[in-house]
Amino acid sequence: MRVLVTGGAGYIGSHTLLELMAQGHEVCVLDNYSNATPEVLNRVRSLSNGTVTDFTGDVRDPAMLDEVMQNFRPDAVIHFAGLKAVGESEEKPLVYYDVNVGGTLALLHAMDRVNCRKIIFSSSATVYGEPVYLPYDEAHPTAPMSVYGQSKLMAENILTNWAKATPDASSVLLRYFNPVGAHHSSRIGEDPKDIPNNLMPFIAQVAVGKRDALTVFGDDYDTPDGTGLRDYIHVVDLARAHVAALNYAENATGARPFNIGTGQSYSVRDMVAAFERACGHTIPTKLAPRRAGDIAAMQADATRASQELGWNAEHGLDDMTASTWAWQSANPNGYDS
Ligand code: NAD
Ligand code: UDP
Repeated sequence: MRVLVTGGAGYIGSHTLLELMAQGHEVCVLDNYSNATPEVLNRVRSLSNGTVTDFTGDVRDPAMLDEVMQNFRPDAVIHFAGLKAVGESEEKPLVYYDVNVGGTLALLHAMDRVNCRKIIFSSSATVYGEPVYLPYDEAHPTAPMSVYGQSKLMAENILTNWAKATPDASSVLLRYFNPVGAHHSSRIGEDPKDIPNNLMPFIAQVAVGKRDALTVFGDDYDTPDGTGLRDYIHVVDLARAHVAALNYAENATGARPFNIGTGQSYSVRDMVAAFERACGHTIPTKLAPRRAGDIAAMQADATRASQELGWNAEHGLDDMTASTWAWQSANPNGYDS
């Protein structure tokens, strides 16, 4: 298929490009590089030995979208482009709604103009909010606790209404758990621009000597070791879920959410210990109070993705930490290395 990948120069998008091309799909990227660098696509091209058409522009820009649609004529779109920092979303709600909701609306309008009917959307497990039960299945109530989570749920609702109202349309809503890890080549990986908000890139920067110590946000949760539990998923497994979703969308109509996680959860202390095994030295930590808005535990029931997409996570915890360490140590300053 011809697949337009918005935000394709980002962390998850770049890994997905490689998996798409490996399966024979033709790809085109639209990215405004607000959180990425064009060097990513150079590396994707050299790793795949393939063609990546790319456009530099904003997913909210109708003229830009029309240019991309007219030139590339996609059969399907994978929509990664968006903003993802939970804390920042509370400070800049209008920006988050503009990009994450407005961007999705603009994209659907542009797809309608060229009769493109298939879309895979980057949603998040954060749409569930405080667990009523765990593991979350897709029927779990949605009650996001942040502007970011609200913006993802609003976009899901728009995509659901669009798919219902549009003949032959399919919206596949992928609710990611916690993506970590890097491509086995160590040539692409996660490269946060500022101080990392997420656990794994922070640990990686401590391991490589860029930061002194990991701050553990709370050890008084109701979990076995008191630290937060999350369902971490290797980014390559996540990338493959998009290929599976694309195959599903080809013959599907309507909207359907899917959890994309492993079904296993690990604590902050587990992640530190696993990273120490990968890098061979101690990761200094210091304890701080809980981070505002954090919940104790999250875990996916990914049965639906297994049954309906034919997708299962294949990489375990040690693959996640080893690949992160390989990427970070080979590229201590990310794509500037
Ligand atoms: P990322 O920031 O690395 O990638 C997003 C890409 O979109 C970047 O290349 C950025 O430059 C681009 N972009 C941002 N705004 C744009 C705009 N207005 N127009 C065009 N391009 C734009 O993030 P990621 O981790 O790869 O996440 C991809 C998607 O998955 C996001 O929508 C994010 O909300 C979602 N998601 C991420 C996580 C996670 O933990 N990484 C978890 C759940 C969901
Ligand atoms: N965490 C931490 N220190 C950090 C970053 C995160 O202790 O510097 C904890 C956080 O409280 C949570 C887990 O690590 O329990 C995963 O956090 P992350 O931000 O990566 O993912 P999210 O909270 O969005 O699921």
